[in-house]
Amino acid sequence: MTFVYPDAIVSTAGHVDHGKTQTTYALSGVWVMKHSEEIKKAMTIKLGYTQIGIYDCGDEYYYSDGVLKEGKCPNGEEPKLVRRLSLLDVPGHEVLVATMVSGAAVVDGALLVVDASQPAPQPQTAEHFAVLDIIGVRHMVVAQNKVDLVTKEKALENYEQIRSFLAGTWAEKAKIIPISALHKVNIDALATYLAKEIPRREAELGKPARFSVLRSFNVNPPGTPPEKLRGGVLGGTLLQGVLRVGDEIELRPGLKVDKPKPGYQPIYTKVLSIEYSGYKVEEARPGGLVGIMTGLDPALTKADALAGTVVGKPGTLPPVWTAIEVETKPIPRAAGEKPEPFKQNEVVLLAVGPATVFGVVQAVKKDVITVVLKKAVCAEQGSKVVVIRQIKNRWIVTNYGTLKG
Ligand code: GDP
Ligand code: MG
Repeated sequence: MTFVYPDAIVSTAGHVDHGKTQTTYALSGVWVMKHSEEIKKAMTIKLGYTQIGIYDCGDEYYYSDGVLKEGKCPNGEEPKLVRRLSLLDVPGHEVLVATMVSGAAVVDGALLVVDASQPAPQPQTAEHFAVLDIIGVRHMVVAQNKVDLVTKEKALENYEQIRSFLAGTWAEKAKIIPISALHKVNIDALATYLAKEIPRREAELGKPARFSVLRSFNVNPPGTPPEKLRGGVLGGTLLQGVLRVGDEIELRPGLKVDKPKPGYQPIYTKVLSIEYSGYKVEEARPGGLVGIMTGLDPALTKADALAGTVVGKPGTLPPVWTAIEVETKPIPRAAGEKPEPFKQNEVVLLAVGPATVFGVVQAVKKDVITVVLKKAVCAEQGSKVVVIRQIKNRWIVTNYGTLKG
């Protein structure tokens, strides 16, 4: 089969245990990587992602990789590839809501997974939806999951709860598809509406390349002899432009250095190969999640060390910040609770572009907070910033705003 570029990124969203991972599996046939507890010890966050093909089999609905048996249509025909989507499986745990924020900064649409056997919305369903709203996602399909556990009446009651939750929002008319991810029921309808409702990213091919690193890896097994070492791999997405094998690239913020003065030094390297889930290509384009092998020492890219980095052609990247001023607004909470004012020296977690970093609040002036970052970020002035605060031992998305300077 010929390669077709994924043309949009879809993020899952929804309360823990509602079936985001199971639905991702049902659609793709692939179990995404398990998330580690890494956020506790570091500022790195893992994103699980997979590409799914969506196919026309000449009948009412489209099919996805996860439901085609041995690559064939149920009617035995050769499936016709309609499009490919990148699907991000985000963890639902509150501590990791930041993952969703950093992933969501680059998403084109959302797949909200709601457990039909529980009253809707559950707290993280509301919280994730609020995040999708503020970061500007405007296309969503709802998977009403676990319908195998409820009666038809209960399912309809839950459907009405979801409808009234979404009433009056941009997602008012979102399709709500009843499914059982576990038993792979109605996954074809879900695939169909994902393909139809999530727009293709306008490939901004003419602009300078801007690649957001969401993960980074060392792909060499332990003990690989130096002459066989493969270069560091960056996983992420192109927001605009294209990157080609052989291109010279710059990475920012880059390496932390003490000399000549404390700060960050950009890293320069080359694109050695480009891969979309097993497909090697010559060119990366906007709209999908892609792996880029570079000439970097793999020690630099291991264990997501470069997650949150921005990559482009040398001399084209936005500034690097070690402290930022953010103009913030509180996010309306489902429970209606008002967040407390920011305190000096409070530790906050900020999502800025592809980066999620801890910082310490240094000054508070009305809606503007000045935050000293534990790790530098590379971002345009005016970028969106999401603020995550620790409230009663939970990390909660409380504010959003823009990078002032
Ligand atoms: P996540 O936290 O949203 O990613 O949820 P998971 O996908 O890990 O699913 C949580 C639990 O719900 C797992 O034990 C799944 O087996 C179960 N589950 C997921 N989908 C279904 C479904 O359609 N029906 C039933 N009965 N259980 C499901
Ligand atoms: Mg999960």
